[in-house]
Amino acid sequence: MAVIIDGKKIADKILDEIKSKVSKLENKKPSLAVILANDNPSSALYVNSKEKKSKSIGFNSFVYRFDKEVEQGTIKNLIIKLNNDPNINGILLQLPLFNHLDERELIELINPKKDVDGFHPINVGKLNCGLKPYAKCCTPKGIIRLLKEYSIELTGKNALVIGRSNIVGKPVAAMLLNENATVSVAHSKTKNLKEHTLRADIIISATGCAHLIKADMVKKGSVIIDVGIVKKDDGTLLGDVDFENVKNVAGFITPVPGGVGPMTIASLLENTYELYLEQLEN
Ligand code: NAD
Repeated sequence: MAVIIDGKKIADKILDEIKSKVSKLENKKPSLAVILANDNPSSALYVNSKEKKSKSIGFNSFVYRFDKEVEQGTIKNLIIKLNNDPNINGILLQLPLFNHLDERELIELINPKKDVDGFHPINVGKLNCGLKPYAKCCTPKGIIRLLKEYSIELTGKNALVIGRSNIVGKPVAAMLLNENATVSVAHSKTKNLKEHTLRADIIISATGCAHLIKADMVKKGSVIIDVGIVKKDDGTLLGDVDFENVKNVAGFITPVPGGVGPMTIASLLENTYELYLEQLEN
């Protein structure tokens, strides 16, 4: 039976540490600005939870909510204002946006030094060059932290990333490469996924396909990180991994919920704090 990786416990530890440091600050507090320009209920929930957690650890949190009439220019002007506001340390553009908005243009407008999600091409480029980005993408950063907290060796291991999105798959693959893993990336056009999963010492699955990964697809003792979140009609959450059966074969496994999810938000607030410190020095 696998060790269950407790993301909630590690995330709480990270947040407690930041809270304690923030309580000792004499000057201004770290400040996070979040822009919400879609009417997706899940995004609204994520944003509310980011706001609540930010405030609970002593940060200032500002949320800018827009309805579907909003124009690209309005959000561009807001980003320019936030870029120039010395009281704002991190800017987060909650994705996805309303369809009529140009996501790339807005991400590229964010000052890379305030790009708390690590999505700006400068930060993506730095990560891929093995340089330190101003901020690292939150979910992948949280995943690497989980692996390290459980002393899981990455050097020379066969790591399979399933999913190639810009927010999870690609950046986590880059981070695993930077940690000296031998990385493969599978996606929706990959043929015979099982051949790949059975070779992997570590699987990071980020597809959003409920229970894609079954017990007969994983190597005994392997490490299974489940990023997927699929909400069923009754409100329960499923991951990409058939947890109940895979946990009998794997060596380590993350649950859904309580695995990667809490680490994403902890990484976001850690990024905000790190950007704050960097901006204090400059
Ligand atoms: P996305 O939809 O942008 O990308 C999904 C990826 O999965 C694509 O690259 C696609 O090629 C691949 N894919 C789809 N079906 C596949 C299949 N059958 N076999 C192999 N690959 C397949 O998704 P995303 O934004 O990266 O998110 C992925 C999942 O992770 C979603 O469920 C999302 O809700 C969840 N997520 C969770 C967190 C968290 O904090 N826990 C953060 C981000 C995303």
